[in-house]
Amino acid sequence: MPELSMLAAVFEDEGRLAIREMPTPRLNTPQDVILKVEICGICGTDLRFLAVLPVMQAKKGVILGHEYIGQVVEVGDAVGHFEPGDRVAVIPDIPCGYCSFCAEGRPNLCENMYAIGGDVDGGFAHYALAPAKALYKISPDLPVEAGAFVELLSCVLGGVQKAALLPGEDVVIIGAGPAGLVYLKVLKAAGAGRVIMVEVSPWRSEFALKAGADHVINPRQENLREAVRAITGRGAHVVVDAVGSELAAAVSVARKGGRIIMFGENHKAEATLRPHEIQGQELRILGSFIGITAFPQAVKMLESGAVKLTDLITHRLALAELPGGIAELAAGRGAKGVCFPWQ
Ligand SMILES: [Zn+2]
Ligand SMILES: [Zn+2]
Repeated sequence: MPELSMLAAVFEDEGRLAIREMPTPRLNTPQDVILKVEICGICGTDLRFLAVLPVMQAKKGVILGHEYIGQVVEVGDAVGHFEPGDRVAVIPDIPCGYCSFCAEGRPNLCENMYAIGGDVDGGFAHYALAPAKALYKISPDLPVEAGAFVELLSCVLGGVQKAALLPGEDVVIIGAGPAGLVYLKVLKAAGAGRVIMVEVSPWRSEFALKAGADHVINPRQENLREAVRAITGRGAHVVVDAVGSELAAAVSVARKGGRIIMFGENHKAEATLRPHEIQGQELRILGSFIGITAFPQAVKMLESGAVKLTDLITHRLALAELPGGIAELAAGRGAKGVCFPWQ
């Protein structure tokens, strides 16, 4: 039985994350599990929740953090397939299981979904409560820092599956934040030809080159469409918008017949484009939202070492350092941040 209180990072209001003493979670229902959190990644979503004029909403008073792994410490009476000591990753978006989208096998489109670390308490804490159906067993040998990438990789794989990349095809990734960088690593591992990243932050541009990007274009300094064509000839086969507001830019760099993955999440962005650019070039624009069903593949890729993501970590933070670290990352001076709640 864990201690009665613990430290946690609580979303207070626009722009405010507080490190507070909170009651340690207790089992609410017989289907619940209590986890001791090992590591929790900082997601672009967390930065969006915490932005002043947020572009996504978290519930006030909730403990943030949804990219975590941990050890099972307590299980409810109805939980048959986990026991204390098991190591698990958390699938933080929880589908209902009974709506028509769930029934069609598309749980990421569930009409009744809620999110751990947004709607209910998450993993920037010593301990976390999660329903057993949100947990997925992982190997005790998985390096702890790789564990912080399971959720993000699962989301990225959702987009990669839709992109259906063939070896040698050229790729443009707009945005060299953590998601864009994971796309870079995965698409390279999948045999991409040239991978061109589009980024305005000088820090991130340099980091993207070190992480394996073949070129980085700053669209404020160069004409993006021309710069991509100077490298690829006809444009990119696959374009990923990892920002969420760059549909028009994505269309401008795609090759005829290209696929565009809209991945970044921004609930307020709007786009102006000429429909003929899509129709006349037979572009395919594919929305990609989270990646629940790609979770097992993400775990397998990290456990086998098929893709190595831990060199994307630039910020290793204790709970108390989280607000400062998140501000640094939001300013574009860092790639992936992770939190070790017990440090
Ligand atoms: Zn995330
Ligand atoms: Zn559902």
